[in-house]
Amino acid sequence: MKLYSINTGYFKLDGGAMFGVVPKTIWNKINPADENNLCPWALRCLLIEDGNRLILVDNGNGDKQDAKFFSHYHLHGDDTLDKSLAKYGFHRDDITDVILTHLHFDHCGGSIMLENGILVPAFKNAQYWSNKEHWDWAVYPNEREKASFLKENILPIEESGQLQFIEVNGGVDGKLGQTDFADNISIRFVSGHTQAMMLPQIQYKGKTIVFMADLLPSQGHIPLPYVMGYDMFPLTTLHEKKSFLTEALAGDYILFFEHDPLYECCTLQQTERGIRPGTFFKLEEL
Ligand SMILES: [Zn+2]
Repeated sequence: MKLYSINTGYFKLDGGAMFGVVPKTIWNKINPADENNLCPWALRCLLIEDGNRLILVDNGNGDKQDAKFFSHYHLHGDDTLDKSLAKYGFHRDDITDVILTHLHFDHCGGSIMLENGILVPAFKNAQYWSNKEHWDWAVYPNEREKASFLKENILPIEESGQLQFIEVNGGVDGKLGQTDFADNISIRFVSGHTQAMMLPQIQYKGKTIVFMADLLPSQGHIPLPYVMGYDMFPLTTLHEKKSFLTEALAGDYILFFEHDPLYECCTLQQTERGIRPGTFFKLEEL
């Protein structure tokens, strides 16, 4: 097995929304805001080469929305999904599986593209993996979350016949649920950010690596009260963070961040103030 970090670019989101109840005087030191209170965030995906499968975890914003939509998100940087795949000798048509952690546009926007005005799967040889609980939640969204679930990102996946569901495991005794996906890959489930978000967990080079998606979008979100304003159920996120961080510290897990503008991975350490980042590194340094 081999893992690759696939950066698809950067975007900006409101710092206050990203850090929830934490005051700007504090979060601005972690990720300094521009004059509009927006901070830069990565759109970093993970590619897993596993035997004859090539599994992509999330796929960024894509490019099919109009200029007005993207003007809110200030896309920047030179990285694209295709360029990042090509760097390692891969093409999007090589992808056999796309795991969608959840269906917010910044995670699944690259799933569907416009070809001659028609919405088609951007990975024509891939199965797309979601789960029934999250799918139904996204297809019939609540009014607070609606702006993140774009129909054009979601419905064509089902229409293509390439949609598959992973069975949700709700977890027991406060421990996050887990479903096997492949020999060294399982899926963990959390429901504070949105219903049944999936966190791929991979055994790699003797370590456990977890793709954090929006449970811990950046290393700045590791302290417990740093819960995003975007989360549907912040207290659920709090419990899930506690449970996950305790398990991850004990197991010496490596956390892989989808949105951290600077850091790809880190370990954890116990400090007097609680669990905090240990060492930072790039996936390729592992
Ligand atoms: Zn996100």
